[in-house]
Amino acid sequence: MRDSTKIIRSGLTPATPGAPLHSGPVFAAPYHTPGDPAAAAYSYARSHNPTWTELEHAIAEMESGPGYNANALVFASGMAAATSVFGAVLRPGDAVVMPSNAYFAARVLVQEYFTKMGIELRSAPSAGNAQAELLQGARLLWLETPSNPTMEVCDIAALCEAAHRAGTLVAVDNTTATALGQRPLALGADFSVASDAKSMTGHSDILLGHVATRDRELLAKIDQWRTLTGGILGPMEAWLALRSIATLPLRLERSCENAQRIAEFLTTRKEVESVLYPGLTTHPGHAIAAKQMRYFGAVLSFTLHDRAAAERFLAHAKLITEATSFGGVVTTAERRARWGGDTVPEGFIRMSAGCEAIEDLIEDMAQALDTIR
Ligand SMILES: *Cc1c(COP(=O)(O)O)cnc(C)c1O
Repeated sequence: MRDSTKIIRSGLTPATPGAPLHSGPVFAAPYHTPGDPAAAAYSYARSHNPTWTELEHAIAEMESGPGYNANALVFASGMAAATSVFGAVLRPGDAVVMPSNAYFAARVLVQEYFTKMGIELRSAPSAGNAQAELLQGARLLWLETPSNPTMEVCDIAALCEAAHRAGTLVAVDNTTATALGQRPLALGADFSVASDAKSMTGHSDILLGHVATRDRELLAKIDQWRTLTGGILGPMEAWLALRSIATLPLRLERSCENAQRIAEFLTTRKEVESVLYPGLTTHPGHAIAAKQMRYFGAVLSFTLHDRAAAERFLAHAKLITEATSFGGVVTTAERRARWGGDTVPEGFIRMSAGCEAIEDLIEDMAQALDTIR
């Protein structure tokens, strides 16, 4: 069965006559648990919930590949998922190798908290597999490709091989690609981590994340971390996520196609200084991206002359909603430097291609660019 078919059918209930095709959210704190608690599949909702279980099965199917089955655990956010890996794996004296261009909150978390608990942080850019130089004696290699927001690409399979030779575990933040677009576990990673608030669920209305792994012992540690820290997902969000994931193949195909067309259009405009999208053959990571990704993703970045040009573009584009985050069905964009934190030019815009008709988006962008001549 093809992945798109598997994903679309992954939330179906067994064909019991009269039963609904999909189950609803299960709301519970404690569950009926008479006598020996081991006899009940569910006892208390901080540990487990049947709606999570359904969602975790759907995500695990997506993360599984030829010759192996993955398991997945869902969290209240992408950051809760990322924290579980750092927390379950790192101990005082350990070193973690992160991309210097990694997602801002992940960098700050390690810098502000984990380094103060005796963890050594080593950083190098994603581009050019520069992190490979820092692996000696490291406990964990954290990758992000394509990275947010600078769209840097690294070779997951090559870095996993180098890391495993050095006795280092590998986690990949796979948020921008989703497990349908890129499968880190099949490329050798020990953990695939993502914010599923982005392309995975795609409607800009829920926050959640997950960790997937093929290793039972690592899974048990992540599960224990979640139960002890309590950073859990509500059943309503889990149910909405299940509904949303059924359309992932459709949304991803359309939004990635739109992102490619937008990136190509932007390269033809003289107001645009540079365009970063791994689907462009001119992108320095294109060959690696083409090897390891099934879709190049919905996110692209481009640079206009300065802050004023970027603000003018965003103010005049009627079909581009100015907002942070990405991966929704509606096209969004923002001037990234307004937040501080990322080392990007003042005129740098991160855009997330939605599922609209591409002709409308390009017409709208053309008139918005005309205003900054
Ligand atoms: C958004 C994002 C996160 C954090 O996810 P939340 O769900 O917002 O906590 C982590 N990594 C990347 C690459 C992201 O884009």
